[in-house]
Amino acid sequence: MPVRVRFAPSPTGSLHVGNALTAVANRRFADERGGALVLRIDDTDASRTVAGGEETILGDLEWLGVGFDEGPVRQSERRDLYADAAERALAAGAAARDADGSVRLSQTGTTLLREDGTATYQLATVVDDLELGVTHVIRGNDHRPNLPVQTRIATALGAHLPVVIHHGLVLGPDGKKLSKRHGHSSIAELRDDGLPAAAVRAYLDELGLPEHDVQLDLARLGRLAVDAIAAMPDQELAAAAEAPVEVVPALRGARSLLEAREYARLVVAPERAALGDEAGLTLERFGELRRPAPEWLTSDEARSIVRELKAVGGDLRVLRLALTGAERGPELASVLAALSRDEALARTS
Ligand code: GLU
Repeated sequence: MPVRVRFAPSPTGSLHVGNALTAVANRRFADERGGALVLRIDDTDASRTVAGGEETILGDLEWLGVGFDEGPVRQSERRDLYADAAERALAAGAAARDADGSVRLSQTGTTLLREDGTATYQLATVVDDLELGVTHVIRGNDHRPNLPVQTRIATALGAHLPVVIHHGLVLGPDGKKLSKRHGHSSIAELRDDGLPAAAVRAYLDELGLPEHDVQLDLARLGRLAVDAIAAMPDQELAAAAEAPVEVVPALRGARSLLEAREYARLVVAPERAALGDEAGLTLERFGELRRPAPEWLTSDEARSIVRELKAVGGDLRVLRLALTGAERGPELASVLAALSRDEALARTS
């Protein structure tokens, strides 16, 4: 039987990192088995549905590079299916209708249909997992408590649940439930922190299907961000940093795309820093080295100018300050290589 999995977020806004892990894990599970991933929007609970929530989730998935093969299937558009299922459970004697009109599972009293005829999460999930032909449910272990009742609902419908796999949750770095308070609990927050999509995806792929809860490892994410920025194609990095492509070599050491953007600003449009009198000698020596060199320097040529300047007693901090207006920033040679001779001389005279 071909594998079919589903990712079933509620449309409450940008994906929680733990939900993003579920999405990535489902995609990989399907890919490794030649299976299909269905995107289902669990919007039975109107009070939890946020305007634009579905679009936000679609944007997050696209950003993470998680494609889906079917959907989005919206539970709000499948009410008849749930009502039919409740009727079947009633007909089989597995459910009973209350005086208020709601339908409950006979054995446990679990509500299947509310008074107003809308399906509960428990019923809608089971009906959809069966109706969509899902073979494996992969979700966070916060849903583990739902398994017994969902098993009973499936039985009441004369069916069997798919295989259910619960994975560990992503906790905050402090071991507590990852929440807004931590500042990086959602995909939107990680993106706004300047983490490249490839780094977040690589991190979630590394976590795989954790059996136990894991703590969000910001240091690891940071290292993956450096790797991702180092590996980005020039055009992509230039676009992400909002910088001309010539500046890209100066952005490679950045630890986030925000830092890359800041590096680009230091190269392209620095503020002018006040330099002390003692700067004169360094800048004079720099001029002597830069003037006879080509209009644009290769990175080797730029590095050798930096080396020679240092060898003749030049103060590299002074040169950095003159070129970028800041005491810290991109590698000095990469700044030199990103600036024409005229521009470099203008900033240092
Ligand atoms: N909509 C649920 C959630 O976002 C998922 C339900 C399920 O996977 O069974 O947590």
